[in-house]
Amino acid sequence: MAPSASYSLQIHGGAGALDNVQDSKTAVRYLDSVRRVLEHGREVLELGGSALQAVETCASLLEDDPVFNAGCGSVLNEYGKVEMDAAIMDGRDLSAGAVAAVQNIPNPVQLARLVMSESEHVLLIAEGAMRFADHCGVVRAPDSYFSTADRVAQLERARLQHKMMLDHDDTEDDSEDQKYGTIGAVARDLSGNLAAATSTGGIVNKRMGRVGDSPIIGAGVYADNETCAVSSTGYGEEFMRSVIAKTIADFAYMQGMDAEQATAAGIEYLTRKVKGRGGVIVIDRDGRCASGFTTKKMVHGWIEHCGEAVARF
Ligand code: ASP
Repeated sequence: MAPSASYSLQIHGGAGALDNVQDSKTAVRYLDSVRRVLEHGREVLELGGSALQAVETCASLLEDDPVFNAGCGSVLNEYGKVEMDAAIMDGRDLSAGAVAAVQNIPNPVQLARLVMSESEHVLLIAEGAMRFADHCGVVRAPDSYFSTADRVAQLERARLQHKMMLDHDDTEDDSEDQKYGTIGAVARDLSGNLAAATSTGGIVNKRMGRVGDSPIIGAGVYADNETCAVSSTGYGEEFMRSVIAKTIADFAYMQGMDAEQATAAGIEYLTRKVKGRGGVIVIDRDGRCASGFTTKKMVHGWIEHCGEAVARF
């Protein structure tokens, strides 16, 4: 099928050491989840749904899966609380919505979409974002929906080591399966429109009120029909300082690079400038999929030009 009449979709479930997933039950669990979500996204796109709808659907499903560090599976901050960040962007007109440091919201990506469509703003944070959620009729979930025994144990380990860490870098205990990861989705629909979404619980043992790259347009997420759609995962501070998602789009815009070239150039820039730890998924305006990461692994999967769903670390 000609690229102009095809759809593409790519999702990720976080980057990091992921030392213990290869050949384990956890690896199968991740890859099954990635394939299942890709097939849901395929349904949306095959029926003529927009790229925006596809990334919201995929991100919501990933938020609902406790294996990932987003929505119900979010990591805990220094006080043992969940504070989540999310963003969504429409490549048709660069409209975008984002929320940061929200609590008790089961699907932050859906709230981000409401910020985009129902408010005159791009980013709402904390109490203000939650009041906006109430105003929109979003039902809050109790603390028990988010908190898991695994997450409490993970926070304890981080506290003992006096460190903040990416969910997937929690590798102190080799016997333990590594379970969670920030999520993101990028898509190109049958009309050639691009969209991107990213959602996260952030990093383990983060300061209360810390906001990462995920809800920052141009860092954790970016989409422009003229260039590409990007979703990032990794140490947010490094991704914000390098404005990595927009940098990748700029490589495409200013140097005419395709997804693979722009991703490679972006990863080189991220590494050289800030020693960035993490990865990105990218779909360009022709529907080509690319990904890159500086960590050992990144959980991700794609459907390129209506093809087979592929899931990888
Ligand atoms: N980028 C996220 C953050 O810094 C974390 C991650 O991707 O795992 O909040």
